[in-house]
Amino acid sequence: MNTIDARTLLYCVFGSPVGHSKSPVMHNMLFAEYGMNAAYLAFEPEDVKSGIAAVRSLGIQGVSVTIPFKEKILAYLDEIDEQALRMGAVNTVVHHDSGSLKGYNTDCYGAVAPLRRFGIAGKRVGIIGAGGAARSAGFGMIREQGKVTVINRSSEKGKKLAAELDCSFLKLEDMDNREFDMLINTTPSGMYPNTEQSPVPDHVLRPGMVVMDMVYNPVETRLLRRARQRGCHTISGIEMFICQGAKQFELWTGIFPSVDKLRQAMMKETV
Ligand code: NAP
Repeated sequence: MNTIDARTLLYCVFGSPVGHSKSPVMHNMLFAEYGMNAAYLAFEPEDVKSGIAAVRSLGIQGVSVTIPFKEKILAYLDEIDEQALRMGAVNTVVHHDSGSLKGYNTDCYGAVAPLRRFGIAGKRVGIIGAGGAARSAGFGMIREQGKVTVINRSSEKGKKLAAELDCSFLKLEDMDNREFDMLINTTPSGMYPNTEQSPVPDHVLRPGMVVMDMVYNPVETRLLRRARQRGCHTISGIEMFICQGAKQFELWTGIFPSVDKLRQAMMKETV
């Protein structure tokens, strides 16, 4: 336990719902690990405007931002990092000593970092889904020179994201005849309690393919289990979660924490 006293610095996550968030466990563990007099709580503000007013008046040092506030929060910040501005989404707020609030996006880093060791440049990358998580992964993979295709259930949303990313689009049901080197699931398919769902049929999973699932509850989704059984390299959503969180912690404290330690701690928390 961190010791709380009159000098304890406060950090938090804003989301709705936020009860399922693993961010408080991760950041409180890091504050304790690095001997910092700081605490991290989860809040569900009525709206983003009142949440940001509280950050300013209470001197909250940093905020993680999750659904549904990632886009709306931009209007209430003093500065926005160039990449977050391009993505139109902020998942991290830093409250500077000057009083200025600056927004960043570490989701993009979180999506890319676990895949770097496989080499991304020139790889055919299929991103399944077309929401905010797909946009983060898409921006990141294109920046790393991956050849990205947005694969989505509904054409309208999928085509819109593909146009925004300037990449190709494929309807989810048309995946059979296309080959990919990397597949990234950014849909909630397979997430607890729907653990027997998978966004794609098993036969599209080919040996040697790299398959990452952003879902981290369960740690091994049906998609990852089938991919492993079919000879793919698999990466759990926990990896993205800890990488985006590690980057967030660095923005707040200047320390980039040990990803191995974070992984061990988060594996105990996630079944
Ligand atoms: P979102 O904006 O609601 O987008 C969801 C997308 O998934 C939509 O394109 C939707 O397709 C598609 N979809 C939903 N259910 C589907 C199903 N059963 N089969 C096929 N496609 C389906 O959500 P988001 O904000 O992008 O988040 C998506 C997931 O990523 C969530 O599970 C979230 O927890 C996870 N995530 C994880 C991390 C991490 O750190 N690991 C970070 C961010 C997000 P349609 O357009 O056809 O409706």
